[in-house]
Amino acid sequence: MIQKLIFSAYLDALKHVIYPNMCAHCQTEIGRYESYLCHACWEATLPTYFEHYTETTALDQLFFGRTKLHSTYALFHFETENPIQSLLHVLKYNHREKVGYYLGQELGKKLKLKGFTQPVDAIVPVPIHPKKEFQRGYNQCDSICRGVAKALKTRIDKTLLRKTHNSKSQTRKSKWERWENSLDNFSIMENRMEYQHILLVDDVITTGATLESIINKLNGHYPDLKISVASVAFAGK
Ligand SMILES: [Zn+2]
Repeated sequence: MIQKLIFSAYLDALKHVIYPNMCAHCQTEIGRYESYLCHACWEATLPTYFEHYTETTALDQLFFGRTKLHSTYALFHFETENPIQSLLHVLKYNHREKVGYYLGQELGKKLKLKGFTQPVDAIVPVPIHPKKEFQRGYNQCDSICRGVAKALKTRIDKTLLRKTHNSKSQTRKSKWERWENSLDNFSIMENRMEYQHILLVDDVITTGATLESIINKLNGHYPDLKISVASVAFAGK
């Protein structure tokens, strides 16, 4: 047993020498037990502390009058050049799934702290542009969702929002129109009446336009369904 432990510690140390951990933001070497950013860079992140708010947050206000939401939450404020941007960048472009899982777990812990008035029946990743998912081979929200699901001890439902085929008429539209239009190409899976509360999870919320479109569509299908939104970062103030 002891030999096994020593051997595993030795392997860990060896791995660290071969693949030293680098801070995803400033590229300095970080300790084996630090997570993805160095201490100084974690200190430079901007937590929202929305879990302590009793009044409405800027994220709640973003959706006011646009859509019916049960609850909203974001872990960090998003600013360019902030270490959180670097973390989300390596998740998105370098497929660092462990980063997504880690951020998802942190997000989940805060959601527990915030205390949903109703448990979440399913976590639903916000779909990304189908072409991007095809090119990249993954949706960066998936690993975030796995972390949140682990923390909240609930399931992930990737079938609630189902992709349907793109129509050829889209090719002449602008990039943005195509994506807006492709949201029409997401059909809502029927027969999910057992859900009372779902949580849509995204990496960054900026204008909220994609979410608004999805939520309104879901509300149309399931008028009694409570929908909450959570993201790692929020680009508004
Ligand atoms: Zn750093």
